[in-house]
Amino acid sequence: MVFSYLLSTPGGLAPRPAPAACYYSYSSAPCRARLVAGGRGGRLRCQAQGGARDVDGHYIRRCVELARTAAGHTSPNPMVGCVIVRDGRVVGEGFHPKAGQPHAEVFALRAAGDFAENATAYVSLEPCNHYGRTPPCSEALIKAKVKEVVVGMTDPNPIVASKGIEKLRGAGIDVRIGVEEALCLRLNEAYIHRMLTGRAFATLRTTLSMNGIVMDQIGSGADQPGGYYSQLLKEYDGIVISSNMAKTTALPISREAGAKQPLYIIIAQGEDSKLHIPFLHEDSVSNAIVLADSPVTVQPAGVSISVLDQMSLDSILQLLSERGLCSVLVDFRDAGGSLASLLNNFQEDKLVQKVILELSPVWMPSPGPSNLAFGGSQSFPLKNVEHKEVNGTLLLEGYVQ
Ligand SMILES: [Zn+2]
Repeated sequence: MVFSYLLSTPGGLAPRPAPAACYYSYSSAPCRARLVAGGRGGRLRCQAQGGARDVDGHYIRRCVELARTAAGHTSPNPMVGCVIVRDGRVVGEGFHPKAGQPHAEVFALRAAGDFAENATAYVSLEPCNHYGRTPPCSEALIKAKVKEVVVGMTDPNPIVASKGIEKLRGAGIDVRIGVEEALCLRLNEAYIHRMLTGRAFATLRTTLSMNGIVMDQIGSGADQPGGYYSQLLKEYDGIVISSNMAKTTALPISREAGAKQPLYIIIAQGEDSKLHIPFLHEDSVSNAIVLADSPVTVQPAGVSISVLDQMSLDSILQLLSERGLCSVLVDFRDAGGSLASLLNNFQEDKLVQKVILELSPVWMPSPGPSNLAFGGSQSFPLKNVEHKEVNGTLLLEGYVQ
């Protein structure tokens, strides 16, 4: 999740639920559980008590927590976590670290070794059943002779879609589905959106003054380690910015430990034939693309340039999805720039899924009418709105229906 206090990925503003860590502060776990000594290697293992539903929910929440470890690294794959439990003890844990690497179940089964036999495997997303870059996890679970599999949610990917569950059941394994489903859905909201629509999940971010003027500054500390903006950049696959911002401002970077920096998607509309991006180093040109409405030469050389027949947010989000991006942050900083026209009907066309608004306690000179005169012709409420005050600014987040 974005900020350390975020609930989902990418982007929730609510405090995260208390971590259900087995090896760490287990006393904060929401379910009835206690620390027990033992397990392989003499580490502390957790043992949950209470009804089966409590136990299932507890371990799926742990799966989600593990999965989030790889936030920003797994696209176009989903984030997935897996926990293997036998006789009430965790014998293996794993998560999918990045595309091309083994899946969560593989790491967890490896850690469990022979202890996987007759164990319960918890996994936040349905195990795959197809040969990709790794063999199917359904087969690995069957081979390891697990007794039960508890699945957070089925996989919307048509090449998985319940086939993994059918395979497990066909092998005589008891499968329970839909445990902590809402949490699992939110964890992979971007992956799911891309899978269902063929477009990247888009979040519009902007900073407003108290009198509603779009600002080109972000809040104090927001771009520092642990700041909301730094964490957003870690979790989103790409950031859409105007050519004006690219020409005048240092390209935003995440300062989170181990963060993979987002792809810079620079929108050049009505540009001169030359676009100079002064803050882009020559050795990182592969981390930026320019989408233009007419032929343009870019400095530094080597930046990928696509001239689009139709400069629309729809076509841009499709193009980014084809490049394997699940999520993009549309960073709206200059009202007169090239992004406003792309956002004209974002609600009616279902092109923006989430809005993050930073409200700064500043009164700005007003250049004219509203800076955010786009979105659609009808009013609409945002859903699941959350808010938080950080360093004197108010952060609001809501989903667009
Ligand atoms: Zn798999």
